[in-house]
Amino acid sequence: MRRPLALLLVTASALAIAACSGGAKTSADAQAALSVTSTSGSAGGVAAGGTGASPLASDAAASGGDASHAAPSSAAGAGSTGPGSTDPSTVASPAGSISGRPLAGKVIVLDPGHQYGSQFHLRQINKKVDAGGFKKACNTTGTATDSGYPESAFTMAVANYTKKKLEALGAKVYLTRPRESSSLWGPCIDARGRAGGKYNADAVVSIHGDGEPAGLHGFFVIRPALKMGWTDDIFASSKKLATAIHSGLRAAGLANANYVGGDGYDVRGDLGTLNWESKPVVMIEMGNMRNGTDAQHMKAARWQRDVYAQGIVNGLVTFLG
Ligand SMILES: [Zn+2]
Repeated sequence: MRRPLALLLVTASALAIAACSGGAKTSADAQAALSVTSTSGSAGGVAAGGTGASPLASDAAASGGDASHAAPSSAAGAGSTGPGSTDPSTVASPAGSISGRPLAGKVIVLDPGHQYGSQFHLRQINKKVDAGGFKKACNTTGTATDSGYPESAFTMAVANYTKKKLEALGAKVYLTRPRESSSLWGPCIDARGRAGGKYNADAVVSIHGDGEPAGLHGFFVIRPALKMGWTDDIFASSKKLATAIHSGLRAAGLANANYVGGDGYDVRGDLGTLNWESKPVVMIEMGNMRNGTDAQHMKAARWQRDVYAQGIVNGLVTFLG
């Protein structure tokens, strides 16, 4: 059943939940949309497959949205402190002391949630795919801040910063979509979930932002529930990965979400991206884009690089090192 455009746009926050739960494994369309990049130099300000503009600048250009994040050096909110959060400049991140190439030989897949152009390809993204023994929409549009900064731009920016940091530590990194784009859509959740197996990854991290009522804030890590025939092969390893990523994000300065149990963890059996995966996988809701303080942080380049990306790197070094 197709979802009306108006509903998609008006209920962005409600869709965020579905957005993070979309996913299935076997659609040909999804395969067509799944493009992977491993090009070098993507994280330090050059979007993978991009034109050389900083990821933030190109995000802004692609989205036509909030421009306050276009200038990393003056990113609004970067110096403010939020509920339980700290200024990244004052955080003594353990990753700052990571040296050498502890991830040499390791393969990591990063899944930047959603895609800006999906909102213009509703027929494709509303197509039902197998999400783990049940049908679900190929993908969703994702959420956005109240000022219009899209979740897809946030997830791509964090993925690119993470990719650069991981490559500097010796890892080979693949993304499930090449760049933030208004003309591309997907890939579907099933294709995203197959990416780790396709590249024989040692770990898979799916990056998202939540869209909840404004009073909710903070991050949580989602790991796959035990589903025999689907996730039994990755259940234990993904739990270990979740613990490492959670600790890494806390060390980088983030606070546990004040919802979903309050401990910064969730377990889900309805997410195709997790159900289809054959390698250790977690999905992270980095913050609530509808919360004012979280939104300011999520738009800020310094937080994207020094907190969200660094937290993932911290966790992967622990898990793989
Ligand atoms: Zn999402």
